[in-house]
Amino acid sequence: MSEGLDPRAARWRRDGAAAPALVVRWEPDLMARAVSDELARHVARGSFVDEQRYRRAADLLYGLPPEQREAEFQALDVRMAREFGLHTGLEDALEQAGWPAGAVAEVVVTPATGRGEGADLRPRAGAGAVVLLALEPARLGTRALAPFLRHELMHISDLLDPEFGYDGDRRLGDGVGTEVRVRERYHALWCASIDARLATAGRADPALAEASASRAVRTLGLEPGDLPAAQSWLAERPTHSRLRACAESPGLLR
Ligand SMILES: [Zn+2]
Repeated sequence: MSEGLDPRAARWRRDGAAAPALVVRWEPDLMARAVSDELARHVARGSFVDEQRYRRAADLLYGLPPEQREAEFQALDVRMAREFGLHTGLEDALEQAGWPAGAVAEVVVTPATGRGEGADLRPRAGAGAVVLLALEPARLGTRALAPFLRHELMHISDLLDPEFGYDGDRRLGDGVGTEVRVRERYHALWCASIDARLATAGRADPALAEASASRAVRTLGLEPGDLPAAQSWLAERPTHSRLRACAESPGLLR
């Protein structure tokens, strides 16, 4: 089995904790694209050494039988990604997220598709949940990664928090006609609440939190004059039912 496919290769354990290890599984295609993007950044800076080294290593693999070649390419990408530190941003963010021990067993990282970037929680009966994290490969190794992960992992923290009160029921609105609109409002409110809490904790840019709050106000069909009331609402820790009530009846924010 190649290093890229072996979950032990990407195993991460919170230092000193007796908690079960959280396995981070990187989809090979994401890894390949992230390494390629990193090499392109090196070349753009005028540094060709790593790109040439990768090319030489890859050239040797083309001589292998097809059944071995793919696994060896994946192993090469994992080695280079580790060398460039492309894993560390996520590992740091997971440590900072501080999820309850054992609540999440696995994080599966995939390249973003047409549905865009984001994190989602998939509970599993009798076992730690799986977090699906879709991201643009080019984010890895850049400054754009940390704020993105802080935001996305906080969605998961909320879902794992019993006080948030998420019960796995994703239905919103009172019928087919309203569901899409209510879902958009719910998401805008939840994202703005996350940015507000991160900004209060000094972990996000206050300007970003303000822009996020303005966007939520617009999405809810409120007036710009409603922004201060919405901001004080957003600064409080939300619950699933409170977000749902406001998404269904935006006037509650006034
Ligand atoms: Zn969000």
